[in-house]
Amino acid sequence: MRTYAVKFGGSSLADAEQFRKVRAIIQKDAARRFVVVSAPGARYPGDIKVTDLLDACHSLALKGESFLPELEKIEARFADICAGLGIGLDLKSEFSAIATCINAAPQKDYVLSRGEYLSAKIMAEYLGLPFIDPARCVRFDRDGLLMEEETYDALSRLLRPLPGAVIAGFYGSAPDGGIKTFSRGGSDVTGALVARAVNADLYENWTDVSGLMEADPRIIPDARPVEYISYRELRILSYMGASVLHTDAVRPVSALNIPINIKNTNRPEDAGTLIVSRLPDDHTRRSVTGIAGRKGLSVVQVEKSMVSDGAGFTAVLLDIFKHHRVPFEQCLTGIDTISIVIRSELLESKKDDIIRDIARELSPDTLRIIDRLSMITVVGENAGDSNEVSARLISAVQSAGVSISTINQGAGRLNLIIGVKEADYVRAIRALHASISEG
Ligand code: ASP
Repeated sequence: MRTYAVKFGGSSLADAEQFRKVRAIIQKDAARRFVVVSAPGARYPGDIKVTDLLDACHSLALKGESFLPELEKIEARFADICAGLGIGLDLKSEFSAIATCINAAPQKDYVLSRGEYLSAKIMAEYLGLPFIDPARCVRFDRDGLLMEEETYDALSRLLRPLPGAVIAGFYGSAPDGGIKTFSRGGSDVTGALVARAVNADLYENWTDVSGLMEADPRIIPDARPVEYISYRELRILSYMGASVLHTDAVRPVSALNIPINIKNTNRPEDAGTLIVSRLPDDHTRRSVTGIAGRKGLSVVQVEKSMVSDGAGFTAVLLDIFKHHRVPFEQCLTGIDTISIVIRSELLESKKDDIIRDIARELSPDTLRIIDRLSMITVVGENAGDSNEVSARLISAVQSAGVSISTINQGAGRLNLIIGVKEADYVRAIRALHASISEG
């Protein structure tokens, strides 16, 4: 029998109606055995997610102010869901236990985790499946890092004998028994851990979009969903700004080649995006998989005549950034010039010290900082002759009147990264998209 781990995000659990859609999806395919849930998300634009309400409770408690009115709002949301589904969970005692814990010591991770905890309890009862509290099996070490092997072991021992289960996403426990959460959006990671622990055939990640779009739909209104994307391509696009999955959700499943299917709870018939280790060979419909980009970057450009004839210049330069704990995005080297791309917000407060150290240690001929830059990446592992595609993309951007500040083309597969002024960001993305749509 096939086994799927299925994770539902906050928008899929926003109210009783969404819970009903989730049950219909689960009942449609017996393979959907292990269900991971987030906390209820926003029901309409401007509504507040349960996790954000919990965060507000915690902040009030920390300041010594009354958090009970805020906590009552959360209880009312869960009460609505239970009433809509005809579930008789004793919310009164659940919420009085939460209030007691907050009064004793407002521990942030514990407070934030209660949305997933209750959401999973309700879903378990609604589906008639056992509820699994991840505090029993998702383990973090003293530094707050996930203990992967221990977690796989514990999850697998608990889950494998069961026909199915509902597991709360987003949290686990620290060595002292306290609750520890992943970073926000972390239920995606729990879903991936569960998929790996049960060696699932597929990890379905249910959300409110029909997959990853080939480009940001706010810039390209007719952007199409991506049918297939490789783990590697997804990593690049996510790093560059495309947000569809928590970045830590790929590694647990990619190690076992478990595909991830991004699906839409509101349009379950849509195929969604399939994230795989290798794009299918016959998938030649498009040479480019997707485009993503980021603004808010700066470039530090250092030039020194004849420097390429020597050794160690780049190492000294990078050491200066390391010393100031400023990570860089890219390091582009030319003959006698080096350009380091950095997130402007990280550079800002250290700029003067870094310039001083570069001047002192490297005595460059010129040293320039260019701000308000953006980076755009285009990936496509099936691009065939990636040089030819890159040339076409670059010329499309130039024909749109955009001047390109930096170009970085990864070796082999198509992975082009270009730097353009922030003011040209939208124009460049539109030009790139138009060019791939023709190809
Ligand atoms: N509820 C948490 C958040 O809003 C975790 C999650 O949804 O994955 O970030």
